[in-house]
Amino acid sequence: MSSNITYKSLTQLADLLENKETTSEEICSEYFDRIEKVEPQINAFIKLDTEDITKKAEESDSRRKAGRQLSRYDGIPISIKDIYNVKGQSCNCASKILAPYTAIYDATVIKKIKEKGFIPFGRNNMDEFAMGSSCENSSYQTTSNPWDLRRVPGGSSGGSAAAVSAGEVPASLGTDTGGSVRQPAAFCGIVGLKPSYGKVSRYGIVAFASSLDQAGPLSRNVLDSAVLLDTISGLDKMDTTTVRDKRDDSHESIVRKSNENLDGFKIGVCHKYLEMDGLSESIKENYMYSIEQMRELGAEIIDISFPYTKYAIAAYYIIATAEASANLARFDGIRYGSRIKDYKDLNELYLKTRGRKLGDEVKRRILLGTFVLSSGYYDAYYLRAQKVRTLISDSFRETFQKCDVFLSPTTPTPAFKIGEVSSPVEMYMADVFTNFVNLAGICGINIPSGLTKDDNLPVGLQILGPHLGEDKILKAAKVFEDNREIKEFIPDL
Ligand code: GLN
Repeated sequence: MSSNITYKSLTQLADLLENKETTSEEICSEYFDRIEKVEPQINAFIKLDTEDITKKAEESDSRRKAGRQLSRYDGIPISIKDIYNVKGQSCNCASKILAPYTAIYDATVIKKIKEKGFIPFGRNNMDEFAMGSSCENSSYQTTSNPWDLRRVPGGSSGGSAAAVSAGEVPASLGTDTGGSVRQPAAFCGIVGLKPSYGKVSRYGIVAFASSLDQAGPLSRNVLDSAVLLDTISGLDKMDTTTVRDKRDDSHESIVRKSNENLDGFKIGVCHKYLEMDGLSESIKENYMYSIEQMRELGAEIIDISFPYTKYAIAAYYIIATAEASANLARFDGIRYGSRIKDYKDLNELYLKTRGRKLGDEVKRRILLGTFVLSSGYYDAYYLRAQKVRTLISDSFRETFQKCDVFLSPTTPTPAFKIGEVSSPVEMYMADVFTNFVNLAGICGINIPSGLTKDDNLPVGLQILGPHLGEDKILKAAKVFEDNREIKEFIPDL
């Protein structure tokens, strides 16, 4: 029997299972051992029901023995951000207000991974209700970055990213409303994909900002990202914003067929980014290196000025908070989760439950969102932000008439230290390159592109494509990955 499952990819695990070199039970138990070893330092998981997982692994093994495996991937574990409803499991969004809540149905994405036999493997830590960029807003625990335990893993899907990077699981499902898959993927040196809006169903995922939210995979390499995209994407009658895309099942084969170069590929870049305030030297150097790398691989590089980047954060934090203030109204102490005991009337029940059980960042967003939607300020803030959103979408549409994909850094800095960023506005800047992607509804992927010289921290490159242009970004990412200087990003744990 094989050992050293820890840093294997999904496709490698599938090969081992197919060749009868391992079993699902063995894979899961190796990850349990790894978790026991590293989790005290990392804190990526809020919950892990080993008994239930072992039972599922045994079921998978007997299916396979009988030749009835649900797919090549039957029996492979995938960890899940604490925002997805998985029937019978707690779903708390790392919030005290949802503490005793147990899901009564499967999110569409969960249903789809189960149909292929993947095993949902524990609940990953996150920023409360996916609001944050460091995982420090979780009401449970602070997750550490496997590359440097004093640093954050990014957020809000920080538990997912840390778990994959630390070899606790081969892949994870996160969500990305303004960067929450790509930014933690960049901080932890893994691949993180935000699919186009409408590509993946949001049904059964706790809503933060419904016009921006998307589910996305975090994985060790580009091929695994494509495998998971094929698994989770598709039209869903439970989410009317989903679209039919004829490429829905073909990303894995597109990536497998990607040849070694980018001849004929047009890649947009923005040299102006190098002049941006707050961009660290290591990020600048890596961005320039990555552009050169793409040129050497045969791509034609086209400089594009992208004038709206600097307005995106403001527009995002108006639209996202406005939608959050409406979505989170349902957490009122009555319908879901927990309720305080000492109240005199209904109003006090609402006020005290929300006042005590929601964290500061969530309250800040509800207040801000309610404010920008109030009749006196609606035109000045919300309506303007929507106009900026349209300008951003239009300029991406123009951009993608000139190039196939567009490159930017994923984050302005590498992972920062736990507790280092105390002002909310400074924290919001962590998404300066990611949140306009959600505003435009297009797709983007983070691919690890280097390590900082001084601290050995991962740096990420973001590849953006047009709406439903996942085939293009996956191809560019795969060719880049195959030719990158550092072959594997594995932290010294
Ligand atoms: N960091 C951003 C925020 O706090 C994005 C969050 C996300 O994508 N869920 O809103």
